[in-house]
Amino acid sequence: MRVAVIFEHLPTSSGWLLIQFENELEETHHLAAGFVLNISHTQLTIGYLLIITQSIKKVLLIFAKEDNQSDGFWWACDRAGYRCNIARTPESALECFLDKHQEIIVIDHRNSRYFDAEDICRSIRATKSSEHTVILAVVPRQFMENSSITACYNELVQIEHGEVRSQFKLRACNAVFTALDHCQEAIEITSEDHVIQYVNPAFERMMGYHKGELIGKELTELPKSDKNCADLLDTINTFIKKGKEWQGVYYARRKSGDSIQQHVKITPVIGQGGSYLMHFKGFWFVFTESHSFKCKNRRKDSIDVKSITSQSSDAPGLQTRRYSSMARIHSMTIEAPITKVINIINAAQENSPITVAEALDRVLEILRTTELYSPQLGTKDEDPHTNDLVGGLMTVSKISKDETTVTNVLHHSSGHSHLSVPNTISDVPPCIAQLLDNEESWDFNIFELEAVTNKRPLVHLGLKIFARFGVSEFLNCSEATLRAWLQVIEANYHSSNSYHNSTHAADVLHATAFFLGKERVKGSLDHLDEVAALIAATIHDVDHPGRTNSFLCNAGSELAVLYNDTAVLESHHTALAFQLTTKDSKCNIFKNIDRNHYRTLRQAIIDMVLATEMTKHFEHVNKFVNSINKPMSEGSNCDCTANIKNFPDNQTLIKRMMIKCADVANPCRPLELCIEWAGRISEEYFAQTDEEKRQGLPVVMPVFDRNTCSIPKSQISFIDYFITDMFDAWDAFAHLPVLMQHLANNYKHWKTLDELKCKSLRLPPENNN
Ligand code: AMP
Ligand code: ZN
Repeated sequence: MRVAVIFEHLPTSSGWLLIQFENELEETHHLAAGFVLNISHTQLTIGYLLIITQSIKKVLLIFAKEDNQSDGFWWACDRAGYRCNIARTPESALECFLDKHQEIIVIDHRNSRYFDAEDICRSIRATKSSEHTVILAVVPRQFMENSSITACYNELVQIEHGEVRSQFKLRACNAVFTALDHCQEAIEITSEDHVIQYVNPAFERMMGYHKGELIGKELTELPKSDKNCADLLDTINTFIKKGKEWQGVYYARRKSGDSIQQHVKITPVIGQGGSYLMHFKGFWFVFTESHSFKCKNRRKDSIDVKSITSQSSDAPGLQTRRYSSMARIHSMTIEAPITKVINIINAAQENSPITVAEALDRVLEILRTTELYSPQLGTKDEDPHTNDLVGGLMTVSKISKDETTVTNVLHHSSGHSHLSVPNTISDVPPCIAQLLDNEESWDFNIFELEAVTNKRPLVHLGLKIFARFGVSEFLNCSEATLRAWLQVIEANYHSSNSYHNSTHAADVLHATAFFLGKERVKGSLDHLDEVAALIAATIHDVDHPGRTNSFLCNAGSELAVLYNDTAVLESHHTALAFQLTTKDSKCNIFKNIDRNHYRTLRQAIIDMVLATEMTKHFEHVNKFVNSINKPMSEGSNCDCTANIKNFPDNQTLIKRMMIKCADVANPCRPLELCIEWAGRISEEYFAQTDEEKRQGLPVVMPVFDRNTCSIPKSQISFIDYFITDMFDAWDAFAHLPVLMQHLANNYKHWKTLDELKCKSLRLPPENNN
């Protein structure tokens, strides 16, 4: 018996492809002997065997006369569970096939007397539904046909597992390609060597080419965008060669010459007989100088960045479709929030009147800058004091005209090991105890405490305040541990600094405790937040060298190197405080709390100390205004503190704002205290300028030169630039009329001095009446 498999689409002369079935193998090895595999095309199909699992159900036998051979197939179908029809004439065969769409057709081709098998084959092939049908022919040979049911059965099974499955696979492929054709993402398939095999209509729309212009072309033949760097192409190739998927942003050039930015995913598809690369091209942006969709008054030199998707074209009337694609873009979770915002604005621009679109252009320009929270100094701010304060407190470093010298300005904690013998709380000398009685008042005089404690106000005030807030109870630690901890921390403040010493820490702790007593603050925070805030205030400037971050960066100090010129001091204060705390069990206030509590507390402390870094000043203030003040002023009588408690992010914003305000509350203290603080900070700045000059370092804040500085001017600038807005916002939340009154008085004081051209802290005695 011989069986022929018909592949009409294969390039054989007759359209028949004959595959021998060897009799001898039938009994012993029938499953493996289905086809003679020396015909290369059949080998191609073998690879798909395992993939298609759908079982065939229908067979059509076209035999003019019933005989052993047709019976053999009939009973083989029966054994295999296939439904079988027999047709006796070409007409009934075609009719039956059109009705049932059998997967296998077996045509009797042994005798041309009854019908022409090739004719039948052609007429069946001419129907659309035969595209995936396997047609076999039984042809005569010098030996007898094989009518054994087993032989017929085996043949059918072989066909099912071979040709029929490959036809299923082809059918599935068609479905896949139909899906690709309808997909809104642009898809391109290239061979391993970058010859384009397929592009979908979305791709044609996106790139402006017809597929006929692309298929068969090598990618290198197409005009490339010069925006991709060589590194990117190397990276892509490395990924692909390893069989890994690559995703990222890639620039391509459209037929019209525009460069477009695409989010591309390239997936290698490794299969038999070669590999393919699938390029999925997601949303994209067009960079065009030549035309834009809408904006007429764009500045010539600005690049017009429009987001479009593969659904869009330059044709009019596609805005709604573009919008739906934009919606897809917005839902992409891998996008950074700022990208989403920009995309939303882009989409809103599409349907907006030109004035709105232009206003949104302005918004986009602002959003694309990285410094969203730092006000840009305009003409009104060209005051040298403001400039210097901003430069000195908010920028990392200044490039020196001279070579920067590397110095180590830090005197690590080695000089502070001598601790005074701990007192018990009842041992507190009466003069100290008496002073501390007034500790809850905003007008509490920290300098008096500094004097009576011999410059150790932090331990005493700390013990009193920590007791008031139940810190020992929360931490489950003894008063002795707490005292030892306060002593270690205080000892690591530099008493030689005129401003950043432990009196400043005590002052910030005092202000923090005062704020925590305010009803709305108390209502918004949990006990853990209170404890974290008090600890953060205590440690927030520990081991401060009396120099600014800019100075340390310019000087290439050890700390600046350690913290990569980023939040150098604040990182150091936090890290050192935790080292000092945990290295000795005697002062480890955290030793008795469980790991989870410790982690939460530690996180809150770190966050607060880092929030005191001035480069983030406007970010913290603006976030507070947007998330706390604004919703509060909009939601009339709602119980806002209960609302805040449910939102840890808002609690974080409040804690940051609280420590920031406590840290620079000195302009809101009673006049005499405010003046003292202004004198101290000025002295510290002067000392820095002196050292910068001595060492040939860049002078970070030239106005703070002891020979020329106007302290009133510097205070006016500091209040105008950093203090007023922040305390307005904090007062609107925490209700602090006393502070705001002091601030107004103090500001007036500095203004008066300035108007009288006085550069010092106070008027000379003769003007003082
Ligand atoms: P901190 O170093 O944590 O105390 O951060 C507060 C910043 O504000 C520091 O850089 C101080 O130098 C600065 N600062 C505080 N009070 C004043 C003031 N009255 N005048 C000028 N700068 C001040
Ligand atoms: Zn501070």
